[in-house]
Amino acid sequence: MSMRTTTIPTEVPVIPLRVNDLKQYVYCPRVVFYQYVMPVEKKATYKMEHGKIAEARIDELEKRRKLQRYHLDQGRRRFHVWVQSERLGLSGKLDMLIETDEALYPVDFKFTEGPPHRNHAHQICGYGLILEDMHGRPVERGFIYLIPQNKVAEIPITGALRQETLDMIEAIRAMIQREMFPDPTPYRNRCEDCEYRNYCRDIF
Ligand code: SF4
Repeated sequence: MSMRTTTIPTEVPVIPLRVNDLKQYVYCPRVVFYQYVMPVEKKATYKMEHGKIAEARIDELEKRRKLQRYHLDQGRRRFHVWVQSERLGLSGKLDMLIETDEALYPVDFKFTEGPPHRNHAHQICGYGLILEDMHGRPVERGFIYLIPQNKVAEIPITGALRQETLDMIEAIRAMIQREMFPDPTPYRNRCEDCEYRNYCRDIF
């Protein structure tokens, strides 16, 4: 008589996340909740549409520019690069990647006023962690291209930023796995232009 055996999985599969989730989670954790736990139809806002058009224009300009604004003498630029790390369970599409013989630099284009926020730094760090995993080379800094000001801000990928980013990845996965509906952002001005506004009726 043959005996049937069942293989019990020993590891819980990692919930795959996008780098963009890090930025959204800091902006408002509910945005990430809606995307993963309760997918709802979202409305594209004017800001999103306008941002896409502006980013396409920057692609064209960047192809012709030199790299001084990134404090680099030389380097190869690649646009809209898909990056992925199986180990981290993280992926995303990078606006621009600068490669030199020594290092890799992730660059994100932002249609945002004022200096970069902490959530933008987490996003750059997320891309940096993936690139390190893919290429086995340290990524020590990245850049945010601030489109409205036509300025480039350097983001050092420090040990503290790495730890914050990894902790956030864990917190997002816990929220999704346990289906915990998070508190809304305390900054109500963020709700004004939010594509999920119709679903947060408890706060309006
Ligand atoms: S409407 Fe406000 S609380 Fe609701 S998801 Fe958007 S930003 Fe968050």
